[in-house]
Amino acid sequence: MSSRRKFIKKIAVVGATAPFISNVKAKENNNKGPIIICSRGNEWGEKVLKPGWDILSNNGDLLDAVEKSANITELDPSDTSVGYGGLPNENGIVQLDASIMYGPTHNCGSVGALEGIKTPCSVARLVMERTDHIHIMGKGAQDFARAHGFKIENLLTEKSRKIWLRWKENVSDKDDWFPSKNNDYDKKRTTGTINVLAVDSNNDVAGITTTSGLAYKIPGRVGDSPIIGAGLYVDNEVGAAGATGRGEEILRTCGSFFVVEQMRNGKTPQQACEALCKRIIDINGGPKNVDFNDKIVALGKDGSVGCASITGREGLEPELAYWSNNGFNVLKGTYLIEV
Ligand code: ASP
Repeated sequence: MSSRRKFIKKIAVVGATAPFISNVKAKENNNKGPIIICSRGNEWGEKVLKPGWDILSNNGDLLDAVEKSANITELDPSDTSVGYGGLPNENGIVQLDASIMYGPTHNCGSVGALEGIKTPCSVARLVMERTDHIHIMGKGAQDFARAHGFKIENLLTEKSRKIWLRWKENVSDKDDWFPSKNNDYDKKRTTGTINVLAVDSNNDVAGITTTSGLAYKIPGRVGDSPIIGAGLYVDNEVGAAGATGRGEEILRTCGSFFVVEQMRNGKTPQQACEALCKRIIDINGGPKNVDFNDKIVALGKDGSVGCASITGREGLEPELAYWSNNGFNVLKGTYLIEV
């Protein structure tokens, strides 16, 4: 095991991180051209990044690039953690969260607990571009989307309904729901989200985070993904960061903001992602209290990338995919706690 991957050994649990915000200027710009990244590796990375890279490499619109890439996962019913086909809340209703942020204006928009719209990040973009608000949640978000011509559809696929039903039947033995005879219930609570971050050839930065959130959540629960500074943050002088995994931990550390500010103060994207993971472990009182995972990806304005997670193991390192003038690549990141 390389020591880089297993950096838990190097951290002191108490007081290991000292977040600070200063006026130190961002690193010098040595951008080598456009780049787009997403928080998935090989399996999804290439198909997610292709439309965005096609736009960026033809000097197209930065927001179109991140939106079209994020839409790929949102529209794909085989993915049970984002958009159409995402796992539902405890009542069997799919509720989606998404955010977008644009560096040049420092503007942003988001939707939370949005029902019936396959592409929540596109609605978030309209919140940013066509309203004076930043967050719109629940019924209001759906009404807003309908006003903009979005179709209200059933987002629960047969695959997701069956996974949810197995959960519902197994969640308690004190209710009247019985599991089927061949009960293949998987106790593991599925998580997932996608972050798409990009720098264009003008050296401007933008990002999107989109998810169906925590499976079987209490209806109305909003995670980190639609909260600016938590599941997504962009600063046009520095770069961008996005988070996936247990949203409550990212929310209470202002995770993506924390990472971008660490980069502003001189850390590489990799070091900044690791600093957030350390901080989350610290505020939980150390590794012994950590039974969840979070993963953070970051993109420097100079095109440098980083990725770290709280837990992992050899062969299961956190990954991100990126597409630049050097083609499509996957970066294996670091983790703190071996599981
Ligand atoms: N961060 C998402 C949330 O808490 C879920 C995930 O990424 O697994 O809603």
